[in-house]
Amino acid sequence: MSYKNNILKKQLLKRIMPTINELVLWCEKTETPSFDQIENAVLYSSLKMRVAVAEMILNAQNLGGKFLNTSCPDCGELMHSKGQKTKIVHSQIGDVTVRRSYYYCKDCKRGFYPLDEQLELSGCGWSERLIEETLWLSKNVSNFELMEEIMNRIGGLTISDSTIWRQVTKLKNEANLPPY
Ligand SMILES: [Zn+2]
Repeated sequence: MSYKNNILKKQLLKRIMPTINELVLWCEKTETPSFDQIENAVLYSSLKMRVAVAEMILNAQNLGGKFLNTSCPDCGELMHSKGQKTKIVHSQIGDVTVRRSYYYCKDCKRGFYPLDEQLELSGCGWSERLIEETLWLSKNVSNFELMEEIMNRIGGLTISDSTIWRQVTKLKNEANLPPY
């Protein structure tokens, strides 16, 4: 295992350990749990862990100097990092914050985020998977309040009906699909 991934492994274990401890403590206190109780406890724990785990793996992409030799697509000169900015990505995991460095070419006066390109992030701030599932849901459920409730109850996501409406309308416009 590489040094970088060894660090990631330790950080991941450290991050999820309190939740696992909480779960084990719950098992100790609940000696004869029903399936329903176990389902609830595990769902609660996994919801707590999944965003944190995704963010740690995403942030690890910045380590190891991967982007240090980023060259300008126009003139080929070495670009310089101008610091990090965060971006929130709505995904099926939940709202995930991605930290990425901005690289700038002073000759061409242009810059970009190499990590965004690696991650193939779309400009709209939604993951491909969430877009796909939301569009599928919108074909079967025309009421955005109900879509919000389904995504929350089944998917554990908290996205408002107005945000879903805006995104679905935009995606359907782009794809020349009828609004309903
Ligand atoms: Zn340049």
